[in-house]
Amino acid sequence: MKSKQAQYKEHFPKPEMNVKLHETQHGTTPEGKQLIRRGLVLLKDVKEGEVIFSEDPFVSSLFIDKEESDYCSNCLDSVTDFKSSKYCSAKCHKEAWSIFGGNVLYPEDKPEATSPETAQSQQSIRNAVNLAEFCKEKNLITPLLTVKLIGKMMSEEQQGTAGTLSEYSTWDHIDRFHYIDLAKPTDVDGEKIWFASLEQIEKEYKLVFALFNKTPKFDKFLTDERYMVIKGKFLYNAISIISENEVKKTEEKEKPKGEYFKSSTNKSREVGVGLYHIASYLSHSCEPNVEFKFGSLNKEKKAGSLLNVVAKKDLTKGDEIFINFVDTTLNKKQRKRILKEKV
Ligand SMILES: [Zn+2]
Repeated sequence: MKSKQAQYKEHFPKPEMNVKLHETQHGTTPEGKQLIRRGLVLLKDVKEGEVIFSEDPFVSSLFIDKEESDYCSNCLDSVTDFKSSKYCSAKCHKEAWSIFGGNVLYPEDKPEATSPETAQSQQSIRNAVNLAEFCKEKNLITPLLTVKLIGKMMSEEQQGTAGTLSEYSTWDHIDRFHYIDLAKPTDVDGEKIWFASLEQIEKEYKLVFALFNKTPKFDKFLTDERYMVIKGKFLYNAISIISENEVKKTEEKEKPKGEYFKSSTNKSREVGVGLYHIASYLSHSCEPNVEFKFGSLNKEKKAGSLLNVVAKKDLTKGDEIFINFVDTTLNKKQRKRILKEKV
């Protein structure tokens, strides 16, 4: 019998997503390890402009400077007629509170009719505020994404939806993702780049850990090494979410971001990032045959973080699909700044 991970490709992506995972050997490392290039191949012919698949992220987050502005902190859609600067609807407000960590930025902003049991202790509010303050100061969102991801996994475990063969858990999916090894500098065009200082990662880890200090055996799950791997997975795989609406320029001068994510289009319209299951396997090409569109493509209300992969031309079954990730790593000025911080 095949192991659960060996059977993975038979179960994912699901056939209705119209693509399958495709892995090819792509040379070997100096240590003799096989390098595997991953990609997605079409299961059917598609026409130009057709949506090949749509998917919601495992987790998503607005950039810190987009919080409390024009976008929903829960679904990233634009906030139009709801009287809140944080959420687009009462539903999103409630949803943010339904999963541990979903409300980490606003631990005191309770939705109406919150039962007393869900009210948090003063200590846990303080822990959430400490993490939020740190993220605001450094302009970081990977710690917030990590908290949301762990919260999601915890609720899967409580509901018993994790771990059976047909229902791979969130961690089973994420475990397969490549990641940036943050314990050492990464080679970017021949330059050695640190994506984050080890000192900063240690601080993030402690702040994130404090939030879960009541969770039994949490020290076994979230070691500092695993925190670094999860952060490395976000930096490698998370995709910038673009608002289809014009992004209002914030009055203040924008703070430099402490992190860089894969982006497929105009950076000025980025509102946040999401970690996606299938799109994480897409390969880059300067001549892409698909593009990303976010949110609702018709009048139906959808989350702003919904990712639609759309054909840029007519394609045939068996074709590999490619996206153009612009500025996949860092531009020169940003690299210099990060390098300077290391010295
Ligand atoms: Zn919303």
